[in-house]
Amino acid sequence: MSDRNLRIVMMGPPGCGKGTQGDILQESLGVPHISTGEILRNAGKEGTELGLKAKALIDDGNFVPDDMIIAIIKEALAKPEMQKGFILDGFPRTVPQAEALDVMLAELNAPLDFVFQLQVPDEILAERIVGRYTCTQCGAGYHDRFKTPKFYGVCDKCGNTEFVRRADDNRRTIKARLATYRASTAPVLPYYETKGILYCVDGTGSIVKVKAKIEQIIGV
Ligand code: AMP
Repeated sequence: MSDRNLRIVMMGPPGCGKGTQGDILQESLGVPHISTGEILRNAGKEGTELGLKAKALIDDGNFVPDDMIIAIIKEALAKPEMQKGFILDGFPRTVPQAEALDVMLAELNAPLDFVFQLQVPDEILAERIVGRYTCTQCGAGYHDRFKTPKFYGVCDKCGNTEFVRRADDNRRTIKARLATYRASTAPVLPYYETKGILYCVDGTGSIVKVKAKIEQIIGV
């Protein structure tokens, strides 16, 4: 485990592997992996006002409003475990979110170290997204073809036998999500490129290969 306090952002279109690599980095760096999509989905399951509002937007492939998501990140950044670094996955997704993050981090005197863009062509993204599912108990992620459990129908991590697919992981919504990515999130990349902290990584290889490329850049 690294003893560096690294602050990392994982970027890229839906299905590019942000969540998978974020989980791996959480283990190797020992810093929290914060997925805004997961926070919103959990709020939806709990049935909070925010969660229900977000669920309707997410299921149609739309973004939730900037102010809502910025407030969520502000609350997360205030937690003590975030002081030793973090991996943000799914945030920022718009230029105003990136600007708001900079303001929050400047107040904490904790600038970002690395922004990774995982590059994957659209056809591969769609194939990855429609096949994925997670364990209802521990949240471990699987895929019909690329990452099956060792024993059919049994979670490797916790032994649970129930799994769930995301409501927004269907071909119709994927199209909308990719279009929203191109229109609203792709413009964030030059924002970080200008700052000299953007690293583009080919995300088409195996999970282990992509992990190795990221860790080589970080130097762990
Ligand atoms: P993800 O799990 O990262 O694919 O996120 C799932 C969905 O949550 C997205 O398609 C958006 O609808 C919503 N969402 C997550 N993060 C953000 C964000 N930073 N800004 C706006 N919407 C978000």
